[in-house]
Amino acid sequence: MMEVKCPECHSMVAAEDGSDFVVCPVCGADLDITEIEEGVTLVSLRKEEGERKKKKLVPLDDSVAEDYMKWQMAAVIAVLIGVVGILLLAMSMAQEIMQFGFYFLQQPRYAVLSSLVMLVSLGFIVGGIVLYRYVRKEITSYEDRLN
Ligand SMILES: [Zn+2]
Repeated sequence: MMEVKCPECHSMVAAEDGSDFVVCPVCGADLDITEIEEGVTLVSLRKEEGERKKKKLVPLDDSVAEDYMKWQMAAVIAVLIGVVGILLLAMSMAQEIMQFGFYFLQQPRYAVLSSLVMLVSLGFIVGGIVLYRYVRKEITSYEDRLN
């Protein structure tokens, strides 16, 4: 038996004499052992292992994914604002109709104001949905790139 030092966690790992590969029992890293000369060995992390670790680490500390989450949140809030706007408009319309009948709808000032509120609210809803779908698509392709 010989002992090699794990380059990942720096613990000593026992390996069979002459073996060129061992798995570190402490951190699970795949270690390639290269004997340069009698008694002198070079221990290196197996390359795929290093890359796999890097990939696993990315989503944990990922400011890009965080940004996507923020945009997704913004999209949901935009849709909510639009829905609330339309609800408020409908409520105020119902109130006006109960108080004054339908004729008030023909008043230019009210017509302009209500269609403006309607347009802005619809804009929020449509914009929110478009943004949400766009962000969703971006997240999916981003995740594909990671895996
Ligand atoms: Zn180790």
